[in-house]
Amino acid sequence: MGLRQYEEKRGTVLAGKDLHRRHETENKSYVPTDIGGKKIIGLYLYSQKLGLSGRIDEVIDNGVELVLIEWKYSDHATISDTLRVQLGLLSLLLEENFKKPVTHARVIFAKNTRKSMDVQLDTSTKDFALKILHQVKETVMSGTEPQELPDGRCLDCCFRKICSVGSIYVAE
Ligand code: SF4
Repeated sequence: MGLRQYEEKRGTVLAGKDLHRRHETENKSYVPTDIGGKKIIGLYLYSQKLGLSGRIDEVIDNGVELVLIEWKYSDHATISDTLRVQLGLLSLLLEENFKKPVTHARVIFAKNTRKSMDVQLDTSTKDFALKILHQVKETVMSGTEPQELPDGRCLDCCFRKICSVGSIYVAE
């Protein structure tokens, strides 16, 4: 619907952006020893084939494949379906643009504590990500609301006041 998210007004988004900025400007050459390779920071990628653009926090090229590094401003170290879709789509963008395989990602949750989790990016993960991308595009093109149930995501959603699900779930 072309509605702005006004993300710049949200504290968690600003804190997350600050986390990304710090890791893009400090310790730029650090590469985890168990991965090794050359680090590339802050990439914006586009795929005409997928009709998709995305931003990569960090990627490490070990010569054989690319390892995706994703920073999350959170202490809630869980690989949710939403995060799995994000990683799957970013890996497809990387594979198309760099012509190298991406078989796993490292997610670093850093807020008050710090925890890393490795995620396999196999065919089923990428297929799942593409399926969700297709559903999102259908929603955008048709303008119909998806069948959705309220959950914790609504609490911090920019659209909760106008969404028929979130506006009932989140009373303000
Ligand atoms: S408020 Fe609506 S759009 Fe936002 S997360 Fe909840 S269901 Fe999704």
